[in-house]
Amino acid sequence: MTTAETSSLPLDQATVTIDGAAVKTTGTFSVINPATGDVFAQAPSVTPEQLDEAFASAQRAFTTWQRDEPARRAALTAAADAIDASAASLASLLTAEQGKPLNQSLEEIGIGTTWLRYFADLKLAPEVVQDDDQGYAVVNRVPLGVVAAIAPWNFPLNLAIWKIAPALLAGNTMVLKPSPFTPLSTLMMGTILSDVLPKGVLNVVSGPDPLGAAMTSHAIPRKISFTGSTPTGKKIAAAAASDLKRLTLELGGNDPAIVLADADITATAQGLYASSFYNAGQICLATKRVYAHESIHAELVEAMADIVKSVRVDAGNVPGAQLGPLNNRPQFDRVSELVSDALAHGARAVTGGKPLDRPGFFYEPTILDHVTDGTRIVDEEQFGPALPILSFRDEDDAVTRANASEFGLTASVWSGDLDRASDLAAQIDAGQISINSHGGGVQPNLPFGGHKLSGMGVENGPWGYYSFTETQVIHSPSRRR
Ligand code: NAD
Repeated sequence: MTTAETSSLPLDQATVTIDGAAVKTTGTFSVINPATGDVFAQAPSVTPEQLDEAFASAQRAFTTWQRDEPARRAALTAAADAIDASAASLASLLTAEQGKPLNQSLEEIGIGTTWLRYFADLKLAPEVVQDDDQGYAVVNRVPLGVVAAIAPWNFPLNLAIWKIAPALLAGNTMVLKPSPFTPLSTLMMGTILSDVLPKGVLNVVSGPDPLGAAMTSHAIPRKISFTGSTPTGKKIAAAAASDLKRLTLELGGNDPAIVLADADITATAQGLYASSFYNAGQICLATKRVYAHESIHAELVEAMADIVKSVRVDAGNVPGAQLGPLNNRPQFDRVSELVSDALAHGARAVTGGKPLDRPGFFYEPTILDHVTDGTRIVDEEQFGPALPILSFRDEDDAVTRANASEFGLTASVWSGDLDRASDLAAQIDAGQISINSHGGGVQPNLPFGGHKLSGMGVENGPWGYYSFTETQVIHSPSRRR
């Protein structure tokens, strides 16, 4: 992206939103365009006093926000409308700082507003659990108060909205912090939403990493909703322990796909390409290990390599780009290291296998064959455009190997026999297992969350909504008149 191209971006909207207003900060930090590796903008960095004011504002707003449910629903719908109306500028900014192709930025925004509209319509009545001559008991769901929300850089807007929509619907208020790698689009969304939300309901702050720790140790928030890496999630759990802040942790993954002998190879290869290489593989629920039955392994490797070889890799703002750069230097170094390690241990790159010879954080989309269990790329979260395809003979063995991970976010089984695939799926230790897709269960109405070190709690659907509430039982001798 040239200077001329970046100059048309709405960088002037990169201000933090505190108490409904765009607030100036004295400090700034650099934001890098991953397609060039160059700094293209400065983002605001809040002071400790400004963070205090953001939490104080959210606390003040909570008093009235929690009382008016119809107003909250209307505000979520207005938020979706406002974001949709600014989708083109938001998408340009998202592509500039995140790297993904422009059409994927627009898709991310579209998913976000779908989620806002789903929660605007979600109606969950208090549950009457006793109504007899022994008494009457109703379970209310009451909001927690102020939520501290912390988001990662792979889907900055979408994953922030997954927190905003249910938390605000439940009557909570929020202080939200984007990743320092991708602050600009979230700050712009904060500016847009300040027109449709009462002041203090959603404060958006930014700054380098110490800011996240300052949020999780702050006295005001009653819940931390976090999406990011497992090591950071562990630190947040420790920080939350001192005053028992409620926690939802959406963490890392290393998701397996099991391809049975009777799978449709063409459809499976297309589905696995989408789930492994969308957003340059930087998806928590990306397929990261494929176990293919030995009878179709070679055919699948070839089909996937054919697809991957035809992919257009380019900067996200170039028309026709299908796969952009990795988001940042540490991520680029990590993918390079894990692929090189696999190659040094006997793997073969059927296609790809090295960085692209151009500025920025571009890595060739890579299919790896002859990878063995125990290789780092099989055992560790890799988060990039590389896919090892291993083989198995026995289905029980495939399940055992799929489960041999500290992570358990999602998985998939591919087969022409849905009953057999469903039986295998039920044996996989993960939060969501899809059949003949990977991630087909990622819908606003279905719980999404990881087993083992992939997280704690879930987002989405009634389950996600309830995670932003406490139960409150009202018991009386008989039903009220
Ligand atoms: P990260 O843990 O480095 O950072 C995530 C966020 O936490 C950022 O906003 C960062 O500034 C903040 N942070 C850093 N240190 C902190 C601390 N001590 N206290 C509080 N906040 C702190 O993760 P990342 O590299 O931005 O994101 C990639 C990771 O996110 C991958 O592991 C991926 O699997 C995971 N992820 C998980 C899901 C899911 O739903 N399970 C979704 C997307 C991404």
